[in-house]
Amino acid sequence: MSSNLQTPIDYLKGVGPNRAELLRKELGIHTYQDLINLFPNRYLDRTQYYKIGQLQRNNSEVQVIGKIIGFKEVAQKRGKRLVATFQDDTGTMELVWFRGQKWIRDSLKTNQAYVIFGKTNWYNGIFSMPHPDLELLTDHGKSLKSAMQPIYPSTEKLSNKGITNKVMTGIMQNLFLETNGKFQETLSEDILKDLNLISKKEALFNIHFPKTQELLAKAQFRLKFEELFYIQLQLILKNLIHKSKIKGFTFEKVDTYFNTFFKEHLPFNLTQAQKRVIKEIRADLGSNAQMNRLLQGDVGSGKTIVAFMSMLIALDNGFQACLMAPTEILSVQHFNGLSELCNSLNISIKILTGSSNTLERREIHESLENGELQILIGTHALLEDKVKFKNLGLAIIDEQHRFGVAQRSKLWKKNHIPPHILVMTATPIPRTLAMSIYGDLDISVIDELPPGRQPIKTVHRYDNNRLKVFKFIRDEITKGRQIYVVYPLIQESEKMDYKDLMDGYESIARDFPAPQYQISIVHGQMKPADKDYEMQRFAKGETQIMVATTVIEVGVNVPNATVMVIESAERFGLSQLHQLRGRVGRGGEQSYCILITSHKLSNESKIRLETMTKTNDGFEIAEVDLKLRGPGDIMGTQQSGVLNLKIANIVKDKDILQSARYYAKKVLKDDPALSQIKNTNILRTYQQLSKFKNIWNYIS
Ligand code: ADP
Ligand code: MG
Repeated sequence: MSSNLQTPIDYLKGVGPNRAELLRKELGIHTYQDLINLFPNRYLDRTQYYKIGQLQRNNSEVQVIGKIIGFKEVAQKRGKRLVATFQDDTGTMELVWFRGQKWIRDSLKTNQAYVIFGKTNWYNGIFSMPHPDLELLTDHGKSLKSAMQPIYPSTEKLSNKGITNKVMTGIMQNLFLETNGKFQETLSEDILKDLNLISKKEALFNIHFPKTQELLAKAQFRLKFEELFYIQLQLILKNLIHKSKIKGFTFEKVDTYFNTFFKEHLPFNLTQAQKRVIKEIRADLGSNAQMNRLLQGDVGSGKTIVAFMSMLIALDNGFQACLMAPTEILSVQHFNGLSELCNSLNISIKILTGSSNTLERREIHESLENGELQILIGTHALLEDKVKFKNLGLAIIDEQHRFGVAQRSKLWKKNHIPPHILVMTATPIPRTLAMSIYGDLDISVIDELPPGRQPIKTVHRYDNNRLKVFKFIRDEITKGRQIYVVYPLIQESEKMDYKDLMDGYESIARDFPAPQYQISIVHGQMKPADKDYEMQRFAKGETQIMVATTVIEVGVNVPNATVMVIESAERFGLSQLHQLRGRVGRGGEQSYCILITSHKLSNESKIRLETMTKTNDGFEIAEVDLKLRGPGDIMGTQQSGVLNLKIANIVKDKDILQSARYYAKKVLKDDPALSQIKNTNILRTYQQLSKFKNIWNYIS
């Protein structure tokens, strides 16, 4: 029968209905096409032959030619094992079987050359190979097997039901015999030539049946490129379509608010990076497409002022603006900071959080709807349906990583025309990850800290040195500085954390007694009003020490605080540690971060601590984090689907990703509709991929 790549696998020789059902259930393979795209996890390299004298004690898989010179049976606890002595001109080793001994003994011949393959063990001064793959040398030359044997992904069920790797390889061979010549090229001639890529057909063949390491590498490169290229193409296309279809408000002018602020009230000179980003945002707001921009900037790089000046542009054009932050503390802080600036400009600003009372809410709702209220700051409470704007022109989300995509889109719907959206994050996302996840957003980066900041000095101390740390704290307090001491997060269920925090608080209170020292404490189980009260006391300098959980992680700004002590630092992730450290070093004074741990440290913890003591660069830290945790963990399960790649790995294949993005951009710049003849392959492949939504549905 004539088959195409959409033929159900039931029809493939060697499969049949039972196996087809298993393949569907266990590996999600429905069609010939799915099967072809089941790439091997690894390969057994049978291109090399080893001498017994060359074997290394590293349990690797090796291939050896030699002869069996005798058998013996060795009794063991249960039953016995069969051992064959195997020899070549450099030495002797043992082949061992624990099952099927009679049959093996009967079928193997002594003093004939065999090729054996398997993992070696070193034990009692001799190498042994349990259950080797073996073949007479005379047959070995004739066999069709490729030199590099593919090992396919499998599941317990598959191997239990007899779909072993051997069976899988056989099925794959049948597939190639049946469909040979039906693989269409998916990339353009230009790209193939530019990058010196092998054809799709060659790549598919060599990914399954590579003859040499070199051909395998070429196949892998080509397929990784292709995979990343189409993801990038999709993301960039989405962004282009978005821009052309979704009309945004055009903020035509920059007027009194912005200019007055810039000329008369700006508290400092903007950094070059801040100026550049404001220009980028200004350009977006002035075009007639809706802005969707991600602003990345390390902690303390000054994103708030950029947000505020963007809001002023909205206000200058008669629109309202809002700023949403993930925690109450942070919202309050933004509100306090921005209120001052607003007062001098006569701008109305209010705050809405979970703890706003009914009266406050009513006032806010009313003044939002009649347009009296110009700027609204708040938490998730902003997303409530009751919160309706008269004309929301710009919505800003601070600390984007704390919110999901869902919240972003909810803000969109706050207006009949979606407002411009600016999301800000202080958790630097490695470029590669940003490209893959936010490839549909435009990205701005503030890569410069305000002048005069001294790099924070970070040290690692074990917990039996706490007294020395306390002495250091005391000295800093004497100089008039303030201190944070942070404990791992308190969650409702985690009573232990709470105990740690309280014990810590008590021990600090003993060493730093009132009235000379005043201590604030903030944790997740407190009422928002109490938290706020304590935060305020610290911010005003009434208390010298703030004992807290990670609730202070994001955004909190007390420039006089110079020491961040992190207890049980081994329990924090890298990005959290970096965020916490960012709470100090915000004024002109030298600041310190002290990471306290127990002596028991995992290797990963050690790497995290070393990274922290070595660098202050958020992007560098993010790269290490990505390597340690992998992309899925970093972005949370919600977005990890995006990274569900078949063959590429955005950490390891960073360079291929950059090149894929470059070419995707180039192609679309030159031919946005993909209508030129030279892009026929790309258009066809893109359409196929979009038709099979299951491939693309992870890209919202
Ligand atoms: P983040 O990017 O972490 O949100 P903030 O916006 O809170 O940083 O800014 C951190 C601190 O730096 C604030 O006290 C802010 O007033 C100050 N700051 C911001 N930009 C500048 C600048 N260009 N020059 C001096 N200080 C600045
Ligand atoms: Mg901030």
